[in-house]
Amino acid sequence: MDIEALRRDTPGCANRVHLNHAGAGLLSRRTLAAVTGHLELEAAIGGYEAAWQQAEQVQAGYTNLARLLGGRADEVALFDSSTRAWNAAFYALSFRPGDRILTGRAEYGSNVLAYLQVARRTGAEVVVVPDDASGQLDTAALAGLIDERTRLVGVTHVPTSGGLVNPAAEIGRITRAAGVPFLLDATQSVGQFPVDVAEIGCDMLTGTGRKFLRGPRGTGFLWVRTGALEYLDPCVAEIQSADWDGKRGFSWKPGAQRFESWEKSHSNVLGLNAAVEQALELGLDRIGERASALGARLREGLRAVPGVSVHDLGPEPCAIVTCKVAGTAAEDVAAALRRQHINVTTTVPEHTQFDTEHRGVHPLVRLSPHYVNTEAELDLAVRAVAELASAAS
Ligand SMILES: *Cc1c(COP(=O)(O)O)cnc(C)c1O
Repeated sequence: MDIEALRRDTPGCANRVHLNHAGAGLLSRRTLAAVTGHLELEAAIGGYEAAWQQAEQVQAGYTNLARLLGGRADEVALFDSSTRAWNAAFYALSFRPGDRILTGRAEYGSNVLAYLQVARRTGAEVVVVPDDASGQLDTAALAGLIDERTRLVGVTHVPTSGGLVNPAAEIGRITRAAGVPFLLDATQSVGQFPVDVAEIGCDMLTGTGRKFLRGPRGTGFLWVRTGALEYLDPCVAEIQSADWDGKRGFSWKPGAQRFESWEKSHSNVLGLNAAVEQALELGLDRIGERASALGARLREGLRAVPGVSVHDLGPEPCAIVTCKVAGTAAEDVAAALRRQHINVTTTVPEHTQFDTEHRGVHPLVRLSPHYVNTEAELDLAVRAVAELASAAS
């Protein structure tokens, strides 16, 4: 990878040390041009007319996402966020009293709230699978917990709150053997390293455009295995998701389209497609290797600073790095770094409820580099944290 060329192609690299790819990645010029170019076209010839003119490129959005994920284009539905995509899958499942949803401690905040709502509404039960000694979801415990009451295994691949990578493929082997639906929240993993639905064996997978994929804000996607359509009853029948039968009935559209809404931001879809194309060209293997190497370097650098502790779980943490500076609130560390134009955020206790219950470490400072960052930028961030730590001691 020609990092310098990729950085020149990323306007934000000139302004900031951007270590917030877990929040939102920086757009490349190509992605930016895809978005603004289509808005210009809409302004010039009309929104419907622009969509017709760019219909092939819009369709390429589905095809390229399918290539990225290892599925088929008709198994992909587009949304305006990962949360919406996840909701479309989750709320299409039905639960009865006593049914069980098995999830992990790393589960994302909105997913947890949805589980709690459905539990309250239906009498289903939410069971949190414990971690193993390394801090990842304990697959032996999961296998032991699955029984005839289990209606869903819902797991977050990489949490919003740290560098953990849950053993998705091992979980997939277990759910497949048991014949239990597996919904994987891959929002932080797609675009960061290779994620292949066939290898993982999940039934539904959701992701966002704006994070490690470097797509525009307001984009998300669902991949759903064709066989899973048998037990999923979409929440919303509308002209995009269903066909009127000419009498007083309707049928669902084929494939994953039955989860979509008719209206969408075509400029965002084209921007997402540009970002996915770029990721495919660079190669997810190479992207993943560099992202994890940068994460490891940053983590080691921070670990070596007196007064700084790092808090990422799992045997092989990814590019998301979380830390605490003794004596300084995480929010203050993040704000001080941002004043130096180093973009970082903090984890939010309420966005990762089960992890908060278990570890109680949040908020943490979250630094999330990606392949466009340089080693020098990471070292600069480590020095900035070290100065804050020494001032606090
Ligand atoms: C950010 C995030 C989401 C939500 O993605 P949106 O596109 O903002 O809806 C879901 N899951 C995880 C793990 C996330 O980090």
